[in-house]
Amino acid sequence: MRIVFIGPPGAGKGTQAENIIAKYKLAHLSTGDMLRAARDAKTEIGVEAEKYMSSGRLVPDEVVIGVIADRLKQDDCKTGSLLDGFPRTIAQAEALDKMLAGAGTPLDVVLELKVPDDELFTRLSKRGRADDNPDTIKERISVYNNQTSPLLDYYGKKGLLKTIDGMGTVEEIFFRIEKVLDPPKST
Ligand code: AMP
Repeated sequence: MRIVFIGPPGAGKGTQAENIIAKYKLAHLSTGDMLRAARDAKTEIGVEAEKYMSSGRLVPDEVVIGVIADRLKQDDCKTGSLLDGFPRTIAQAEALDKMLAGAGTPLDVVLELKVPDDELFTRLSKRGRADDNPDTIKERISVYNNQTSPLLDYYGKKGLLKTIDGMGTVEEIFFRIEKVLDPPKST
């Protein structure tokens, strides 16, 4: 199973991603985690990426597309993967379509975790990651609304989009996700 997981910063994607990969045995491909690891290791990509991450802007498409292309070639992605935080632009989505088509493994579903902006702000303000200060939070939410939300239409037109209400407890939200991912049993 190949899943794209989309949601604004603070929607709770990280927590639900952990639940999804555990139950459905998928490789977890989080570009945010990969870029933070590259930054901490001070690789060339990491040092470049940090300039964007620290201000809440998107890292250039060609950089993240390269990172994901390399990662998707690894063995653990053969049986299935959860793409978390990628794609974030139409150009990234088109590049992903080409990569997956080339491998003969198209996307099965795109999950959108939906949470209102004011709630995101409250949640992120409590979290305390380096890029969770008020100015960066505002920038990341606006980047999501301007650059990433067009993907909802892009995947909606392909018939792949499923929207999950991201308000409620972790368990309630995961139950909604399972209802989408577990196909109804045929009798
Ligand atoms: P995240 O952990 O997904 O919230 O990502 C943290 C930061 O990493 C974002 O604010 C961006 O600066 C960068 N980033 C992560 N994924 C991408 C992506 N697919 N495209 C561009 N920048 C990204």
